[in-house]
Amino acid sequence: MKDFTFSVPQDIVFGIGSLSKLPMLLQKIGSGKVLIISGRFLERLGAVKKVADIIEASGISYETFLEVEANPSIETVKAASEAYKKSGATSIVVLGGGSPMDVAKAAGVLAGFGGEVTQYEGADRVPGRIDPIIAIPTTAGTGSEVTAFSVITDKTRNYKLTIFSNKLIPEYALLDPELIMSLPSDIAAATCMDALVHALEAYLSTAASPFSDAMAEKALELIGKSIRPFVSSRNNEEAASGMMLGSMFAGIAFAWARLGNVHAMAHPLGGFFNIPHGMANAILLPVILEYNALTDTGKYEKIYNCIKRSKAARMNFTPKILIEEIRELNQSLGIPAALSELGVTEDTIPDMARDAMKSGNILVNPRQSTQKDIEMLYKKAL
Ligand code: NAD
Repeated sequence: MKDFTFSVPQDIVFGIGSLSKLPMLLQKIGSGKVLIISGRFLERLGAVKKVADIIEASGISYETFLEVEANPSIETVKAASEAYKKSGATSIVVLGGGSPMDVAKAAGVLAGFGGEVTQYEGADRVPGRIDPIIAIPTTAGTGSEVTAFSVITDKTRNYKLTIFSNKLIPEYALLDPELIMSLPSDIAAATCMDALVHALEAYLSTAASPFSDAMAEKALELIGKSIRPFVSSRNNEEAASGMMLGSMFAGIAFAWARLGNVHAMAHPLGGFFNIPHGMANAILLPVILEYNALTDTGKYEKIYNCIKRSKAARMNFTPKILIEEIRELNQSLGIPAALSELGVTEDTIPDMARDAMKSGNILVNPRQSTQKDIEMLYKKAL
């Protein structure tokens, strides 16, 4: 067995209605004024007001920054950091999917240490702790509430850069399944598939450890059980709770085991074509599972047993059975079968493959890959 280290450094609060515990968490971090970071859609839904009212009722003042877009840009991070500094806030409450959570982390870095987002790109380049963040996820999801990553789009390069540092990890992850019940079914489908891919890639990664496997297996069990009922009825409390917890366990698993080719290849699809992250992952997943099948030593069957529709035992399991199940799952959730349906064109493949090769996730994919392999995989997914 390989050496490993593992820790879960932040506090996690979970429960239906647990948003009401926000004042207690603000008190624990000794917060003064708060900057709420979120997006306009969540504002329109009334979710931002709900959070703001809870903060106000506890006697803490706040300002808001609500300009976060999907696949958020360096410019948005700069604007959020300026808003934070100008407000005089001492902590950030972030409400949203991965996009607002990643902006909050990167804005915390700029507010604390100055400079440009690109100078923190890569691993361990953040010099110290950033101001406290309380992360309240509204998708299930990216797991960003428990990860040390911030993924930001550099539009000048059509490139999604990653800042990777333990200094980014939110102080608290506040998981209230009620908050994901407002998701439209297409966003629910894409974001839930993102969580499934996190669990699955972390489980198959060459950097997996017994600890990350335990997290990934729990995530697969919860997501496998919840993904179909949640996407079909988002007000199903049991399924929403399962998805929210599964996404968080998957986040902890991949924070340590990293991911694989699916994620390495999904980021350029966001950078070049602005394809929603979870949807890019879901389309690539069966293609990469097929490519990695050569390396399987039994985990494919365990994954299959978590996500299969039928409870019946399956004799003579082969990787193809898992791949077909994933294709069926994508189809039943309304995920397009091919990248060409989303406007991806063959001429961009060499550039996307070049960017995918820069990702550390390529190095932990179970099957070694060259740029030519990645180009071939994009073509298959096209
Ligand atoms: P998102 O945050 O971009 O949100 C997608 C859409 O869903 C937005 O329009 C948003 O307004 C809407 N939305 C969010 N919650 C809602 C709710 N409860 N009800 C109705 N609408 C809601 O989507 P995401 O998939 O959560 O995040 C994707 C981003 O996260 C990508 O940029 C991706 O690269 C990044 N990411 C980060 C990590 C990490 O560890 N930091 C991991 C994976 C992905």
